[in-house]
Amino acid sequence: MSNSPLAKYKRLSKKYSSGRTYNHKTYKIDRITPHCIVGQWTGKQAADYFATTDRNASCNYAIGKNGDIALVVEEKNRSWCSSSGANDARAVTIECASDTTHPYAFTQKCFTALVDLCVDICERNGKKKLLWIPNRTKAIVYSPKPDEMVLTVHRWFASKACPGDWLMQRMNILADTVTQRLNKQKIEPKKEKVEDDEVVDKTKVLFNGKEFEVTRIMKDGVNYVKLRDLDDVLGIVDVDYDNDKKLPIIKSK
Ligand SMILES: [Zn+2]
Repeated sequence: MSNSPLAKYKRLSKKYSSGRTYNHKTYKIDRITPHCIVGQWTGKQAADYFATTDRNASCNYAIGKNGDIALVVEEKNRSWCSSSGANDARAVTIECASDTTHPYAFTQKCFTALVDLCVDICERNGKKKLLWIPNRTKAIVYSPKPDEMVLTVHRWFASKACPGDWLMQRMNILADTVTQRLNKQKIEPKKEKVEDDEVVDKTKVLFNGKEFEVTRIMKDGVNYVKLRDLDDVLGIVDVDYDNDKKLPIIKSK
C-alpha cells in the first residue's frame, strides 16, 4: 500500500494503530473522511502538531491553507481521527485547514488540494467513483462495490461540527468532481499528419543503357521526375504549354 506522492512533507505521528484492523478484522480502504482542523494552518504545521501532541489524535494526511499536503500516518495504518475505529480502519482520514468558527470555511487552495488528494487516493486504491450519501444510516451500512469509495464525516460518529457546514454543503461537489476526474477520458493529442519534407536532388537514370542526370523530387516516399527533364535529357517527348487553354502539352517524338 502506497502513500500519496502529493504529500511533500512527511512527519509521522506515533498515534496510530498498525495495519488497518479493528476488532480483529482487517479492512481495505473504501472510505475517505475529510475533517476540519479548526485553524488556518499549513500542512507542515498540522503534521508537526500531530507528531508532538500528547492527545491520542492523528490523521493520514493534513492539508494546509495553501494547499500543501503532509503525510501524518501512512495509508497502510489506521489513524486515530474520526472517533470511530471501525471507520478509521477503512478510511483515509484528511485533516484540512479551516477557519476557527462556524461554518469552518476552507480556502479555495485547500479545497482544490482536497479534490486532488481524493483523486489520487481513489486511483491508487483502484476506485472509479467517489460517493456522497448524505443520509448517515444509509452511508454507514452501504457496502461499496469494488470500484467505489464512500465519503464519511466525523459528525456521524461523535457530537461534533466536523467537517463544518462549509464542507458539508460541498460534499456533493467534492464527490462529483473527483468522480468526473477519475473517469475523464485521457484525450490523446490529435496527431496531425506530418508531411514528409520535400527533398530535391540530382539523380542518374539509366535509359536504354545510357546514364542521364535528372532532377528528382522525393515526397512521401515517391520519386517525381519533371516531364521537361525527360524532354531535355531523353528526347522522348515534347513538352510545351498551351497559354490559351492553360494546359501542358505532351507529344511523343
Ligand atoms: Zn474531525
